[in-house]
Amino acid sequence: SGSSDSIISSESAPGGIGDLGGVIKVVLLGDSGVGKTALAEIFGGLEDSLPHALGDSEDAYERKILVDGEEGALVVYDVWEQTDSRGWMQENCLQMGNAYLIIFSVTDRRSFSKVTELLLQLRTSRPNEDLPIIVVGNKSDLVRSREISLEEGRGVAVMLNCKYVETSAALHHNTRELFEGVVRQFRLRRSRRDR
Ligand code: GDP
Repeated sequence: SGSSDSIISSESAPGGIGDLGGVIKVVLLGDSGVGKTALAEIFGGLEDSLPHALGDSEDAYERKILVDGEEGALVVYDVWEQTDSRGWMQENCLQMGNAYLIIFSVTDRRSFSKVTELLLQLRTSRPNEDLPIIVVGNKSDLVRSREISLEEGRGVAVMLNCKYVETSAALHHNTRELFEGVVRQFRLRRSRRDR
């Protein structure tokens, strides 16, 4: 549809990123296999939206969601794994978002240890910016193979000064709340800036 083009072009206008009323570009970060694609696809398919990819890309999902009575437009980018380690593509990912989800699997300690690393990389690329960043512990349905407790996940998020959400893409548990949370975090910062 033509609307997605206009959304993108208005966002890429100089100084347009993050402006009031703009589209929130959400970039998914995290180790391979943690559920980035699963979460992005759920987002793209949330009710009252036609699941569609943006342009030719199958890795960006755009939709509007109603949060606290106000519509918010989000584009979710599932492109992190296409980036070469620490190359320009990766830097591009770290520069393009105005919100980030750092995702790990609660069944995989290795993916959890990447969270701190990714956050430091992001904060190094975007110094002095108060970005909405949510740490996401996915696969909460896999109770028996859990390696990271809710308390431990929450503890790291507190230490890193981020929000923490546990989700199950498999059960669609907390997925809507996750993306609503992104919008709320974004608006909170917007209202602080405008004060
Ligand atoms: P990505 O590499 O981060 O994009 O991860 P994927 O979305 O491709 O998911 C990797 C595997 O984990 C797939 O087999 C998914 O079906 C599975 N998966 C993703 N999220 C969940 C979840 O919440 N619970 C369970 N049980 N499996 C999941």
